[in-house]
Amino acid sequence: MNEIIMAFQGEMVLKGLNRSSFESTLMKITRRRLENVGDFKVYKAQSTIYIEPKDEFADVDTAFDKVRKIFGVAAVCRAAVCEKTFEAICETAEEYMGDQLRECRTFKVEARRADKSFPMKSPELSKELGGFLLSKHPHLRVNVKQPDIVVYVEVRDFGAYVHGPKQQGAGGLPVSTSGRALTMLSGGIDSPVAAWMMAKRGLSLHHIHFASPPYTSERAKLKVQSLGQLLTDYTGSCNLYVVPYTKPQEYIRDNAPDVLFTVLMRRSMMRIARMIADDISCEGIVTGESLAQVASQTLKALMCTDLAQDLPVLRPLIGMDKTEIIEIARKIGTFETSIMPYEDCCTIFTPPHPKTKPSLEEIEEAESKMPQLKELEEAAAKEVEIIRLRMGEEAPLAAEV
Ligand code: ATP
Ligand code: MG
Repeated sequence: MNEIIMAFQGEMVLKGLNRSSFESTLMKITRRRLENVGDFKVYKAQSTIYIEPKDEFADVDTAFDKVRKIFGVAAVCRAAVCEKTFEAICETAEEYMGDQLRECRTFKVEARRADKSFPMKSPELSKELGGFLLSKHPHLRVNVKQPDIVVYVEVRDFGAYVHGPKQQGAGGLPVSTSGRALTMLSGGIDSPVAAWMMAKRGLSLHHIHFASPPYTSERAKLKVQSLGQLLTDYTGSCNLYVVPYTKPQEYIRDNAPDVLFTVLMRRSMMRIARMIADDISCEGIVTGESLAQVASQTLKALMCTDLAQDLPVLRPLIGMDKTEIIEIARKIGTFETSIMPYEDCCTIFTPPHPKTKPSLEEIEEAESKMPQLKELEEAAAKEVEIIRLRMGEEAPLAAEV
């Protein structure tokens, strides 16, 4: 018996004229995600992507897990393929679903004949296949409203497909169909979740991280690298840009009022992120900020941060509670790494009572008294370290989680 994976498209189906480019991106991504899993044939027909193992070494279990994580896939199922004859469909349904039918008390068959040259119409195929399965499993009863299990049969262009219920896919849009952005990735819980949410809306991402050695350690950097690596399951391969931020950070600490330190630092990070974004054609900056979570995330502080540069700042967590964010972090597999206890540069030098409502005037005045800041920021951007995150590789701290 031939088992394949069927991935059903979601929102993309509504994209009108752009639909075919969305579909080909989704196929390209699917092929890339399965590169290390085995030899698969990937093709599309009727809003569905078919993933067929080419030999017995292709690992369908792992492929199924990978496909479930691909944005743009609304639902996914495994299916048995057979010839488009009633006899073959009966035999395949029994062989593929027989074990499950033995465990159930009620069932129904839902057949769909997309290929109109198949001689039986959908209701007739449902009824006849139902009769066949009943003859094999006399304990079963048909229940059309609330069956324990539904046996689906789809007669399509390339064959007939028998499968059980579909499972939910990752939803969203294929990565890269919405453009490219730069995630400000700290080692915390929030920013990896923000990255996942924006990748889900079709953004292709690179990440930027600010490190301040010796105040922050090599372990802290490895933690961020691990988070970026874990995210490659969703984002695909990408780069992590690590900015040596010690000098600008010390300069701000030594030359500006304490209470404004955090917002000044965040504006400075935004300006550096903007420089890197420019070099790698990113059209937006993603952060894990959530309204009022800390002093630098009040409306006034966010306004000051926004006005430091001109790219749109995307904050998908802005209206979320920490508990909701943690729930997603657990679901996507970043939580355990995020709670490893390594310091972030945003938490060093922070004053005990930061100003929660800074005005742009006082911020700009403070910046006017730091004439060398721009130069230090440019130098930091130039010294950026590029770490390549390859999909399918192990996260550096994986063994410790
Ligand atoms: P997270 O939970 O993601 O660490 P946080 O609430 O602990 O966030 P804040 O200091 O409030 O951290 O920072 C808010 C946002 O600023 C983060 O979500 C992240 O997008 C960005 N950020 C903070 N620190 C860094 C850093 N060292 N490098 C890059 N981005 C950072
Ligand atoms: Mg946060």
